[in-house]
Amino acid sequence: YDTLFGCHRGSGRTFLIRPDRTALSYDDFLDLAARFANALSARGLQPGDRLALQVEKSPEALALYAACVQSGVIILPLNTAYTGAELAYFVENSGARLLVGDPASEAELAPMAQSFGAQFLTLDAAGQGSFAEVAADQPGDFETVSRDRDDLAAFLYTSGTTGRSKGAMMTQENLLSNALTLVDLWRFTADDVLLHALPIFHTHGLFVATNVVLAAGASMIFLPKFDLEEVLRLLPDATSLMGVPTFYTRLLGDDRFTRDLAGHMRLFISGSAPLLAETHRDFEARTGHRILERYGMTETNMNTSNPYDGERRAGTVGFPLPGVELKVTDPATGAELPRGEVGQIEVRGANVFKGYWQMPEKTAAELREDGFFITGDLGVQDAEGYVTIVGRGKDLIISGGYNIYPKEVELVLDDQPGVLESAVIGVAHPDLGESVVAVLVPQGEGPDLAAIEAEVARSLARFKHPRRYVSLPELPRNTMGKVQKNQLRERFADLFTAAAEG
Ligand code: ATP
Ligand code: MG
Repeated sequence: YDTLFGCHRGSGRTFLIRPDRTALSYDDFLDLAARFANALSARGLQPGDRLALQVEKSPEALALYAACVQSGVIILPLNTAYTGAELAYFVENSGARLLVGDPASEAELAPMAQSFGAQFLTLDAAGQGSFAEVAADQPGDFETVSRDRDDLAAFLYTSGTTGRSKGAMMTQENLLSNALTLVDLWRFTADDVLLHALPIFHTHGLFVATNVVLAAGASMIFLPKFDLEEVLRLLPDATSLMGVPTFYTRLLGDDRFTRDLAGHMRLFISGSAPLLAETHRDFEARTGHRILERYGMTETNMNTSNPYDGERRAGTVGFPLPGVELKVTDPATGAELPRGEVGQIEVRGANVFKGYWQMPEKTAAELREDGFFITGDLGVQDAEGYVTIVGRGKDLIISGGYNIYPKEVELVLDDQPGVLESAVIGVAHPDLGESVVAVLVPQGEGPDLAAIEAEVARSLARFKHPRRYVSLPELPRNTMGKVQKNQLRERFADLFTAAAEG
């Protein structure tokens, strides 16, 4: 706790800047966190108990996170998009003793929590029975419960891109190890002001962005979400931005985002989903900055990063972080593959989680006894050490016995005039098992299909050619900007079988 939070007491520095430019100091933040920690004890929560949190992004939510870490209570930060029914699953599944929600959802959530024997509190200073009210009477200091670094600190749920989200059990050590490494690697100092526009229920916004700021004693501009107007207005106050690729495409889509506006910035970082090489190029042309792309996931926090000083290579996620071992293995045998060959990415280090909550079989299948975690991502490491993610194992297309990596085809399609972006998926096919379908998002006049087919024929082996092209106004994405290929596969599931029948 002290490494991340406590060390800033008495520093007099600013922790957080609200959109109206009012500031919250580290001291006031820690004071609130201590009151919250005392309130947790007053409500009977013990180290190891679970607290489910579903609230809009706020400084108070971060203070509650700090309070949990300080008092050994395991926090479950939950997506604000979850419905009451989905939330019921998490509360029951985790055995949470307390659910903290927004006042607007109290009528629905309080009885639900009660039905599982959990308490409910809101996180609103005004409301009756709210957390802030309970905390107001509490003293502003709290003795940190001394805990083992191996003790659980959070259950962080995965994004659910490939199925139902899973609760990754994260330890205190998991939270810390990356934060310190990243401060060093990305050269964060107390003078930095990070523009924070990510949600705080994901690893990116909570364990990467927030923890890096805390570990550096830096400040952050805390926006409820990525709102283009707000980002353009407040960017001059910031020194760095951590975002998902859609942040960058949206900035580039606005003429007011100029070299002048971005020139003073120290660092732009992207992660959570692949950054198109085109975005990387356009961003550099517009601003002179090369976006630093990195790769992480709920179960492991951060795995790789492009270098701060060395070449930030577009299309790659850079090198394994110091202290993180990465290897590429054969999915069939688990044997390590030589550099340059595509296989499954496995990682080991202090960043790797303790397993999925109440999913022992899944945990055993993905977390090897020697500590390597099978990420589910496919990738390749080149001779220099740069890692490239070629996609997810679940998205691999096997057509007529051939392996097809969707990304290889998408790269060709994305480069075509009239194509904004594309998603290549495997769809059931009576002869081939699966066949390749390209989903195109048109831009401007739209694509010339004959020209695309000619380019595909020129650059890709025949078995990789899409058999069908369909277009959609946009690709289905979740809050982190990840393309939900599951939805596309469902939507186009009958494409070949229906055609065969008709
Ligand atoms: P679920 O596991 O529930 O299906 P998810 O894997 O999307 O969802 P997260 O843990 O939020 O949930 O996301 C991690 C994944 O995001 C990685 O495994 C990887 O596939 C992808 N990812 C993260 N950063 C990058 C990047 N820079 N380039 C490509 N993919 C990335
Ligand atoms: Mg995943």
